[in-house]
Amino acid sequence: MVARISHWIDGNPWAGEPARRGDVWNPATGEVSGHVDFASRAEVDEAVAAAARALPKWRNTSLAARSKVLFAFRELLNQHKDELAALVTAEHGKVLDDAAGEVGRALENVEFACGVPALLKGGFSENASTRVDVYSMRQPLGVVAVISPFNFPAMVPLWFVPNAIACGNTVVLKPSEKDPSAANFIAGLWKRAGLPDGVLNVLHGDKVAVDGLLTHPDVRGISFVGSTPIARYVYETGTSNGKRVQALGGAKNHMVVLPDADLDLAADAAVSAGFGSAGERCMAVSVVVAVGPVGDELVERITSRMAALRVGDGSRPGSEMGPLVTAAHRDKVTSYLDAGLSEGAKLVVDGRGHEIDGGTAGFWLGPTLFDHVRQDMSLYRDEIFGPVLSVVRADSYEEAVQLINANPYGNGTAIFTNDGGAARRFQNEIEVGMVGVNVPIPVPVGYYSFGGWKDSLFGDTHAYGPDGLHFFTRTKVVTSRWLDPSHGGVNLGFPRND
Ligand code: NAD
Repeated sequence: MVARISHWIDGNPWAGEPARRGDVWNPATGEVSGHVDFASRAEVDEAVAAAARALPKWRNTSLAARSKVLFAFRELLNQHKDELAALVTAEHGKVLDDAAGEVGRALENVEFACGVPALLKGGFSENASTRVDVYSMRQPLGVVAVISPFNFPAMVPLWFVPNAIACGNTVVLKPSEKDPSAANFIAGLWKRAGLPDGVLNVLHGDKVAVDGLLTHPDVRGISFVGSTPIARYVYETGTSNGKRVQALGGAKNHMVVLPDADLDLAADAAVSAGFGSAGERCMAVSVVVAVGPVGDELVERITSRMAALRVGDGSRPGSEMGPLVTAAHRDKVTSYLDAGLSEGAKLVVDGRGHEIDGGTAGFWLGPTLFDHVRQDMSLYRDEIFGPVLSVVRADSYEEAVQLINANPYGNGTAIFTNDGGAARRFQNEIEVGMVGVNVPIPVPVGYYSFGGWKDSLFGDTHAYGPDGLHFFTRTKVVTSRWLDPSHGGVNLGFPRND
């Protein structure tokens, strides 16, 4: 049966008839599993209006009452995490265990937001001037939009929604049209947790929906995650329409292996971080930089591990890597195999030959490894976002650092070494937002913030954690004097603090 996936507006599924809709696939079988409504401008207006109506009451709902809803949502999400993970696997294709990991990281962000009463405390200075007190408070922006990518359909919305709501904002979430069901499931849990109708709305669709949100006068903030060209567009369009925007973009993450590294640890990490979720992670390792003499040995150890990877339908026990999200994306990723060969890289493992345990019409490509990749190759330059790992050889630590710092992306990176001094120098010199030391996917925990540098993030605020609270609030500073018998007279001078 093909499901209809509709918007969630004002606490209920939208009952209208869409002018356009899109197909949702099960990537492991290649079958259409759903039709998702695509919003027109009228539905954008409807969702924003619902959020605007809910705002005055929600922003003045006490911190205690808001945090009760957050705690209740945390419990429900935990109770239903397996169902949510299964939904992610069915539409995204990642294996169940990986989907469960995604939901687990989402929970962290909810748990952080549960502490909102303590986190939103302002400052207070008694007698900043004589009998004058100064204090600061954080207030919500208003209606905010969250626009998310296909690769983490549960986690990325929950990077933003809990903090946005906790801070007193109301939200329109526009998830990826490729795997939209997780967002509706999450919205249903929020309602059950006691969130008033209209505080969280889910609007499905494509560019029309995004453009509607970017230009809507009642939307005050935009949190976007997706590819770099769209992130740049969202940042420029949103800010030129007067909105606060954080737009997280794509990545090309390098993992440096120094000659003194534990090569088994490094090979395990390269395979896990290169092929987990079929390489469709913004923190996936796509380039291994082998420094000095370790290249041949490292490539051999990576290759032997790749042969054992079980690629198959993510819902089947034992599958370690699933399919790609759509046929079009699989074809695009596969085209890099021919490009790499024609550009002169050495194809060590060709994923097209990997044994697959899944539907024949599924969107498959097995793990692929290229060696002797150079900076001028499209294989190196482009974000491929698939199970294609490149090995670049570097003569020295300095050359490895230069390579990474010259790359336009700056999301994540890692160094593998047993030399603490080298690791310390790396974290100081590298121009990347998230750094791992013997950790291949250094996604910060929920009480730090997530974000890259350079073309991996537009705006100055990272996602979730303390930066998230900063993004979703405006600071107000109050200077107050209560009258007393000696309040003085007219004074045209600039206020002095005496
Ligand atoms: P995408 O840029 O194609 O889509 C992201 C969102 O933008 C979706 O909601 C989509 O509907 C919308 N969109 C697509 N085209 C648009 C257009 N022309 N105008 C307006 N809106 C448009 O990204 P994706 O393929 O869904 O996700 C993969 C990308 O996201 C990768 O580049 C990955 O690195 C990146 N990503 C980054 C992070 C991060 O934290 N930096 C995290 C996850 C994913």
